[in-house]
Amino acid sequence: MARFEDLLRPTPEGLYCPPGDFHIDPVRPVARALVTHGHADHARPGNRTVLATRRTLAIMALRYGEDFCETRQVADWGERITIDGVTVSFHPAGHVLGSAQILVEWGGMRIVASGDYKRREDPTAEAFEPVPCDVFITEATFALPVFRHPDSRGEVRKLIASTRQFPERAHLVGAYALGKAQRVIRMLREEGYDAPIFIHGALKRLCDFYQEEGIDLGELRPATIARGKDAEGAAKGEFAGAVIVGPPSAFADKWARRFPDPVSCFASGWMRVRGRARQRGVELPLILSDHCDWDELVETIAEIAPQEVWVTHGREEALVRWCALKGVRARPLHLVGYEDEGD
Ligand SMILES: [Zn+2]
Repeated sequence: MARFEDLLRPTPEGLYCPPGDFHIDPVRPVARALVTHGHADHARPGNRTVLATRRTLAIMALRYGEDFCETRQVADWGERITIDGVTVSFHPAGHVLGSAQILVEWGGMRIVASGDYKRREDPTAEAFEPVPCDVFITEATFALPVFRHPDSRGEVRKLIASTRQFPERAHLVGAYALGKAQRVIRMLREEGYDAPIFIHGALKRLCDFYQEEGIDLGELRPATIARGKDAEGAAKGEFAGAVIVGPPSAFADKWARRFPDPVSCFASGWMRVRGRARQRGVELPLILSDHCDWDELVETIAEIAPQEVWVTHGREEALVRWCALKGVRARPLHLVGYEDEGD
């Protein structure tokens, strides 16, 4: 009688499937990788073959160059693909554009590796679909009952209100380059903000890709100050009251100091923790996460009702304990190498 661990097990390279001889989201180069989504901690270059959704493959090529692997294969949503007798299929995870949960079926067992996921509305990602399974592998980034994300639209409205309250000040929004930045921009548009939005150069290719995929981000301009008459960019005064979006790393450097009296904003689930906002010098924290909060994690487990839950990357203990109290077998996987690039 085969056990679940015969189908998928944690290894130093990441989750490994012995009968199919493949890894899911390997943290070191392997022969055959199945990749859930394009964040750098899950999607790494250097694997021989990669199977992922079309959008995830495109994102990997944008970030790492076309030679990020030797051969790639597209997994269409729900398409059943057989690898050495193991059947795999990709299902939307709601985390970022193209993000997938991977269902692995073999010998009558069904295990879902959900990668990173969220349940909340996101106009820039395919909505999460619950997939019936025996084992549900869940992330645990915000797996403590103190983590309850507020209404996302309310957070975006706070940003718009601040631009009206401080029309002389630039609003500098730190947001991860893949997913969070485009979500903030799209939600600003849906809340009626139609002025040009300025973006840091590091976001340009991904924003262009989202637009090509049909996600309308409105007018985006480079967040550079024009020097000389033919230079691209805006005059310094144009940044007054404007929204400027850049990756969090840009905020520590000179780049951030060119804007007039900036209001420092940061869009992250971690902004729920006041100390983190203070530490980063964030004046306007925007609690916007691409992960489930505590309630969404436990509601998802209750909805899917698997026989077992395997918990990975994050606060594993609290969720394992919650499962035990509900009579669901659960265990931490202790996978290493996942640092939630897109929180
Ligand atoms: Zn992620």
